[in-house]
Amino acid sequence: MYDIVIVGAGIIGTLMARELSRYRLKTALIDKESDVANETSMANSAIVHTGYDPEDGTLKALLNVKGAEMYPQLCRELGCRIKQTGAYIAACGEEEEAHLEILADRAERRGIEYAWLSNEEAHIQEPNLSDHVTRVLDFPTTCVIYPWEVAIAAAETAVKNGTELYLNHACTGIDRTETGYVVHTKDRDLETKMIINCAGIFADELYAMVGTPDFEIKPRKGEYYVLDNTVHFVKHIVFPVPSAKGKGVLAVPTVYGNTLIGPNSDFSDPEITTTAEGLAYVRENITKTLKNIPLNMSIRTFAGLRPSGSRGDFIIEEAKDAPGFINIAGIESPGLASAPAIVEYAIENLIRPKTPLEINEDAVMTRERPVVMSELSEEERTEMIRRDPRYANIVCRCEQISEGEVVACINRPCGARTVKGVKKRVRPGMGRCQGGFCEPKVLAILSRELGIPMTEVVLDAPDSRILIRENR
Ligand SMILES: Cc1cc2nc3c(=O)[nH]c(=O)nc-3n(C[C@H](O)[C@H](O)[C@H](O)COP(=O)(O)OP(=O)(O)OC[C@H]3O[C@@H](n4cnc5c(N)ncnc54)[C@H](O)[C@@H]3O)c2cc1C
Repeated sequence: MYDIVIVGAGIIGTLMARELSRYRLKTALIDKESDVANETSMANSAIVHTGYDPEDGTLKALLNVKGAEMYPQLCRELGCRIKQTGAYIAACGEEEEAHLEILADRAERRGIEYAWLSNEEAHIQEPNLSDHVTRVLDFPTTCVIYPWEVAIAAAETAVKNGTELYLNHACTGIDRTETGYVVHTKDRDLETKMIINCAGIFADELYAMVGTPDFEIKPRKGEYYVLDNTVHFVKHIVFPVPSAKGKGVLAVPTVYGNTLIGPNSDFSDPEITTTAEGLAYVRENITKTLKNIPLNMSIRTFAGLRPSGSRGDFIIEEAKDAPGFINIAGIESPGLASAPAIVEYAIENLIRPKTPLEINEDAVMTRERPVVMSELSEEERTEMIRRDPRYANIVCRCEQISEGEVVACINRPCGARTVKGVKKRVRPGMGRCQGGFCEPKVLAILSRELGIPMTEVVLDAPDSRILIRENR
């Protein structure tokens, strides 16, 4: 019998698992996907917003400000990248400038650092700002992270502390028992006292397995271009003034130097695929705040689905008709930025009052950052190669990733099991060739390390084999 089963291993589920692994609890974390952070937490703008945007009185406002404050320490503990880029909100004309005043007022009341920049000052800092821009509000403490790195690191920590992680385990049904619930999956049933619903765009469907949902989740698509990391287009995140449709089309310098351009906002198509119309919208709307946009340096496009809840705010509460079933739903933007605070809020307000939380003295909440050869000095690299020559064998030319790094990411707790899992952890395939050179090498390493034939190595889902058969 588990104390807690967490359904959904996105940023919320993985951080929840890590935080609960501080205590003497028997916990399982399950996900229908082949890896953690394979849905919304994988495809977003990666911004740790500071919290000026959500309306007063909402959980979004409360938890965004808190979450943003928690990230630098969290990333230090987990050995994850975080880059303080700052964010420019660029107004075009008097009406938008008036809206900036509202944002500045919220920032002032919420204790968020901000600064006004004149048109001239802003253009000196960001020469590619469009000529339509008349005034800029700067939020200098805004950061970007590598969202799935935080989720993977959190899952790794939880697993090391005893959390059981079951990937490729879709929850297909839930039964009530005298003492709690049984979570059904194809391969195993998990009996538990409590369930935490972190199922993202499927949170309403999961809730419907035990009760009558009093909210609905609608996927809202956002599409992006990714520019090659040799292009240094913007130093800051550049936003337009937010509107009822959201934060608008922005440019984001990522932690690895690529630039994201997007997203649009589309309720009509719940598929995680890009569309000609969506990308055309991005191309047109980015010109409002920026010029000289080097879309010819785009190396790929992607789309993500926001789990937009019918209540317009985060939903973090025990289900009224299912005791011990905790909904953490409607976690759209700023869900990533708020994630550590969402988890803290749910534990303190919903879990602690129902479950004794006894500290596990053996729990280790920190994670050592995996070796990244490109971050090391010449001497450190030489020493790594002396100890293990596989660190001299470059597998990915674009991102300069060695065989040693690929092997290490497979053999860690919550290690990579798929080609995409390796790509998410150490980046072969993220560069300009998009895997053309490195994918066969990664496939061969996975086959060797996992002790499976090459034909059984998958790209991502269990049926996504890359090689069909051996032909000689
Ligand atoms: C285009 C876009 C841009 C965004 N930009 C930002 C941003 O810059 N900053 C920010 O703060 N936020 C941003 N967000 C929001 C942020 O990405 C989300 O708030 C966050 O990722 C939600 O995390 P989650 O864990 O709730 O959901 P997910 O990451 O979707 O995790 C849910 C998990 O549940 C699993 N699951 C679902 N059903 C089942 C089932 N039946 N059985 C087992 N597992 C199941 C899924 O496989 C999935 O892994 C953006 C989102 C999008 C789409």
